[in-house]
Order: sequence, then C-alpha cells, then structure tokens
Amino acid sequence: MADQAEVVPLDAEGKPLSKKAIKKQQKDAEKSKKKAETAARLESEAAARDKDDVSKDCYGDSPIIKSTEKTDRKWTHIRELVTAKVGQKFLIRARVHNRRGAGKLCFIVLRQQYHTVQAVVAVSETVSKQMTKFATDLNLESVLDLEGELTAAPEPITGCSQQDVELKVTKLFCLSKAMPQLPLQIEDAMRPEHLEDGPQGRVNQDTRLDNRIIDLRTTANQAIFRVEAAVCRLFREYLTAQNFVEIHTPKIISAASEGGANVFEVTYFKGQAYLAQSPQLYKQMALCADFDRVFTIGAVFRAEDSNTHRHLCEFVGMDIEMCFYEHYHEVLDVIGGMFVNMFKGLQEQCAEQITTVHKQYPAEPFKFLEPSLVLNYSEGVAMLRANGVEMGDEDDLTTPNEKLLGKLVKEKYDTDFYMLDKYPLAVRPFYTMPDPNDPKSSNSYDMFMRGEEILSGAQRIHDPDLLTERALHHNLDLQQIKAYIDSFRYGAYPHGGGGIGMERVCMLYLGLNNIRKTSMFPRDPKRLTP
Ligand code: ATP
Repeated sequence: MADQAEVVPLDAEGKPLSKKAIKKQQKDAEKSKKKAETAARLESEAAARDKDDVSKDCYGDSPIIKSTEKTDRKWTHIRELVTAKVGQKFLIRARVHNRRGAGKLCFIVLRQQYHTVQAVVAVSETVSKQMTKFATDLNLESVLDLEGELTAAPEPITGCSQQDVELKVTKLFCLSKAMPQLPLQIEDAMRPEHLEDGPQGRVNQDTRLDNRIIDLRTTANQAIFRVEAAVCRLFREYLTAQNFVEIHTPKIISAASEGGANVFEVTYFKGQAYLAQSPQLYKQMALCADFDRVFTIGAVFRAEDSNTHRHLCEFVGMDIEMCFYEHYHEVLDVIGGMFVNMFKGLQEQCAEQITTVHKQYPAEPFKFLEPSLVLNYSEGVAMLRANGVEMGDEDDLTTPNEKLLGKLVKEKYDTDFYMLDKYPLAVRPFYTMPDPNDPKSSNSYDMFMRGEEILSGAQRIHDPDLLTERALHHNLDLQQIKAYIDSFRYGAYPHGGGGIGMERVCMLYLGLNNIRKTSMFPRDPKRLTP
C-alpha cells in the first residue's frame, strides 16, 4: 500500500501555504457558502411570497421606457376626472404629491401641474397587502403609472382639485423614483405666503431659486408661468391683428444701445461686443425699412447692480414701434387698446390660474378703465405736491413717489393701470421728440401697473439733423451711432413706440411682490444659476 501523502495547499507560485493563509482560505469558503445559502433562501421566500401575492403583476418598478413599443392605450389627465365619469376605468401618469398608509389602505394624492386627485390602494381580492405596502413606501414626487376605476368620493376631498371623485387603483407602477430626501418639500413651498411665519416649514426665496426645478412644481408657479405665457400670447395676437409684424433684433451688438453704462461686454472673436440693452434702435430701423408697425419679444440685458424687487439683469422685453400720421397719441391709443385687451383676456382665459396664484399669494383683483386713463406729468406732480411731496417740475419720479402716485390715482380714479404723458425732456433718452410747446417737456410717456413702471415710450426723432443735435447734447459718440442716425437720411416716417418688461407686467397684474417670482430662472447681480 502506497503511503497516503498529506495534501498541502500551495500558493500561486507552488509554495506551501502558511497556517494563517490556510485559515483565511477556509474562512472565505465558509463566507461564500453562507452567502449562497442566504441568497437561495431569499429567492425561495420571494417565490413563496409571489405565489400568494395576488397582485404580483400589478405593481412594482417599471423598466426604463426606451421607446420599444407603441400601444393604443389611452392616457387621461387628472383634470378630466369628474363625477360624470364615475364607473369608468382610467390610465394616469402622475407624481406622488402626498401619500399616507394605514395598514391595508394607502391614500396617494396624485398631481399633474395644478390638478390633484386622491388615489386609493386598498387590500381586496385583487390588491395584496404587499401592493399597499409598495404604495405606502413610495417617495414623494416619484412618477407613477396607475390604472384604476373612478369612484365617487364618500365626502369632498378638500385638499384636492378633483374633490368629488377618487381613483380606486388596480395597477401601480413606479416609472421614476425621486430621492427620499428632497431639498425642499412641495407642501412647504405651497404654503400661503401670509401663513409662512406659522409653526410649519418655511421656504425662503433663495432656497426656492436654488432648487427652482422643484419650486416650479408648486401649483402657484404652474399658474404664474401660464399667466405669463398668456401675457405674451395676448400681446402677440392683438398686435398681429392690428397689422404689426413680429421681428427679431440682434442681441449681440457693436455699441451700447443707450449710452455706455449698464451694458454687458462680451468677447467677439478678436474684438469686443455688447449684449443689447433694448431692441430700440433696431425696431426703429425696421420702420425705416418700411415695416410700418413692428413688435418683438426677446431678451434684454442690463448690467445694473440693482438688487431690488423689480430689476433683473436679463429680462424679456415686449417692444412696440409704429408709424403714425399726425400725433403720437395714435401710438398711445394702440398701446392702451393692447393693454385693455390683455387685461380682459387674462381675466377670461386665466381665471383658474389667477385664483390659484392668489390662494398662495393673496392680492386684490387688477382694476383698469376702458379707455385707459391718461394723465399729464404735471398733473401727477401736482397730485404728489398736494400730498406733501416736494419735487421740481423737471425731476424724475423716484420709486417711492411712483408708488404714492399709483395709490393716489387708484383712490381718485379706481384703476391700477394708467399712463403718464409729457415727461420732462431732461430725464428721457436722446432720441425722444421734444415737446414743440414747451422746451422742457417731451412727447414721451410711461405706463404704470399698481403704481410701478411697466412701460417707457415716446415719439422718436425721425429727422437726422435734430437727432444729431440731441445726441451731441447728450454727449454721445456720433461715430458709434452713425448707422442709426444714417437710417433717417433716406426718408423716414414719424413714429413712436414703447418697451415693456414682461416679468413686471405679470408680477404686477398678479399683485406679486418680487420680479423673481415671474422669471423662471432669474438673473440678478447675485444669481447666475441654475
Ligand atoms: P426703471 O426706471 O424701473 O429701472 P427703466 O426706466 O430703466 O426702468 P426702460 O429702460 O425704459 O426702463 O425699459 C422699459 C421697461 O422695461 C420698463 O418699464 C420695465 O418694465 C422694463 N425693465 C427695465 N429695466 C428692467 C430690469 N432691470 N428688470 C426688469 N425689467 C426691466
């Protein structure tokens, strides 16, 4: 019988292993055996669970949609879930706005923009306990696909937009998981502003703007930016119907449009350029090129270090310019008509959104007259003086005086919108037509909403010699505005117009207190992101 030699484990190089190394090897082997056993146990437990999970195919995490199939399934929006449709089955894709589970029952508030509905996942013959647990564990803001039957709510669900119905869930899939800890809670961000000082959470403006994607999901923000879209739509529709042509002006320009200050400089290949402070010169040049009525909606840049509630470094300008026949009041009439049409259109088309905004940010409804109220600057000054303000005839309105005048006008005329005509020449840009009857005055105007300026405009000088004289008076470099002045040397029509700040119109129409609320991704001296 041959000797049975003891088997000595060897290392990679063929040398016998040390006792310590052998022990480690044994330990590792035991560990992986245990691991395999645990995995097998979990698998068989899951299989057993699945076997008695009656809804195992009706809930879970969905695979990523990679556009592999097209089906004829019909999707429904939450706003369409109304009492008349009780008894019907629906397929919905929405976010988890809120959810609370209580054993065999889970309530999920589903949200799409500013519509919400309650969904109920209740243990039944077809809904397992595991399914309700899955629902209860969903992270807020996750995106779900749900199927269910619409039922009448046993009592009005006051927290939801769809108060009289609820969705009895039969299928529930999570399409996209939100992280468990959000940088801000939508519930907190939606709390009415006047209640924000209460014991509950409070979201300050910087936190909101730092996390704008989530902040924008609040029902008030969903409504604000729909109102803002309507402001532009109504502006565009009205002017188009009045034979205006929509134009697009360059935003990169070679010289500052209105003097050198407040302009952003950019590198332009080997030279330098500026970001346009307004489309002013280009919309006038378009008129000189025989587009007799133009408007434009576009970005305007101001490098002003103004940290106020109403200044941005980039805003959207809604600009108008038109030829007139006899008197620049023809322009005022068109702009007045445009605003009245806009205010009426907002009331009619955005009633639901306006109510939604005011739930979070209460404000008085916006009042206006038809036709619009026009006051002369001197009348405005007189009203201010009668109320204790000391100011010279040629002084510009300070912001507090502007506000005060708005208040006085509201008291006297019951309107939140008015026009102030005939500004002192000294406070207006060089291209403003002087008043022929008063050398200290000009054919220029501002317009106000709730006592704040939203438009500046004027008759423009269309005579190249007078324009040159006024440019020199303002110490401008004629060489830099040569192309502009030259455009009036080939025959030019009398004309006027105005520039409107879109964010200001939306802010003041809704009675909001800060322009950052109406700028989706605001740019101010302290904010360049997100
Ligand atoms: P303000 O006196 O309020 O600073 P402005 O006289 O500089 O305004 P204009 O240059 O006449 O304003 O611009 C026309 C309109 O553009 C204003 O009435 C306002 O609605 C809007 N606007 C001007 N500057 C800003 C800004 N920095 N941010 C947002 N909107 C602005």
